[in-house]
Amino acid sequence: MNVEQRTAWLATAEREDACLAPYAMRSHDSLGRKHPEESHPYRGCFQRDRDRIVHCSAYRRLSGKTQVFTGMGDYHRTRLTHTLEVASIARTMGRVLGLNEDLVEAMAMLHDIGHPPFGHAGEDTLDECLAEHGGFSHNQFALTLVEELESRYPDNPGLNLSAEVLEGQRFRSAKPEHSAAPGEQGRRPLLEAQIVEAADSITYDAHDTDDAVKLGMVTLDELAEIPLVARSLEIVRQRHGDLPPSMLRKTLVRHLIDEQVGCVLQASLAKLAEHDFRHADEARAVGNLIGVSSELAAQKKELEDFLYQRVYRHPSIIDVRKLAQSRLKKLFTAYRDQPRMMPRTFRERTEQVGVERCVVECIAGMTDRFFDMKYEELFGSVA
Ligand code: MG
Repeated sequence: MNVEQRTAWLATAEREDACLAPYAMRSHDSLGRKHPEESHPYRGCFQRDRDRIVHCSAYRRLSGKTQVFTGMGDYHRTRLTHTLEVASIARTMGRVLGLNEDLVEAMAMLHDIGHPPFGHAGEDTLDECLAEHGGFSHNQFALTLVEELESRYPDNPGLNLSAEVLEGQRFRSAKPEHSAAPGEQGRRPLLEAQIVEAADSITYDAHDTDDAVKLGMVTLDELAEIPLVARSLEIVRQRHGDLPPSMLRKTLVRHLIDEQVGCVLQASLAKLAEHDFRHADEARAVGNLIGVSSELAAQKKELEDFLYQRVYRHPSIIDVRKLAQSRLKKLFTAYRDQPRMMPRTFRERTEQVGVERCVVECIAGMTDRFFDMKYEELFGSVA
């Protein structure tokens, strides 16, 4: 096969037909982009979407945004490393199920791009600031970023992503509990979107456990109160004997991921085998086909309740949260009262979406570090 033949093969729909399951979304079935574009000689539309997201500035800023922990050293996850872990786990599961990996990866890279600085404390505060103006959600803001605010092309705003990638994010936005209930025009999420939701949950349960133990907020013995963790610890000890604490933590977290990924694959393949889907739309019409068993879902809930009480409500997290909230409100008020302090992009949107929303969009795009810099320029280092 010479270069031209190889390029032609990569560009054809036959490659997807050869590699993907019948229920996977095909690039050539895409509803396309808002602003029509020529197809690329050797990248499919979802591969281009993934690349566009990776090259946009909002994506790069995820490296400076809090996932759960702020300023507690260099070990814990940022919003960017969380995103990469989600994409990695989602792609693994998508490959086993024969789904469109390019679409899975594009959706995963996009899923948290709208997070403001300081994690959920930031989101809650900005939502309060817009209480009388429609509220704020990171899932919705992801769409605003990639449809309006990112500026990378001379002829159109945003990234001009494919309809399926945007639709996946719209389901997240409309359904914060991530259900596969019908959305726009009675449509339900594609299996590729469902796999990203499952991967997100597996990822944060595992890495928040890892980070919390590493940061000394909880011990492995305390976590062993949770049956899901206790079972994994038992298996790890059977396989490896007594491990030093640090290696035990890492091995446990790896096992937690493996176990959950295996469970999702087993449960999903069993459900898929009950049908004879010939097209992505037939599979999505059935509703939620991807996910853990009800037994594992209950066990994950126990772990999440524990993390909520013992980690997300930990005094050191609450202190950071309170400081961030007070500072966010002060910068919001300052920018709202003097919008000229914002960059031109946001000043120019005030007529279109209102001053308050522009201010929130301006702040939501900031990294933790950039926010602190802007805050301290105005108010010094006091809260
Ligand atoms: Mg996430």
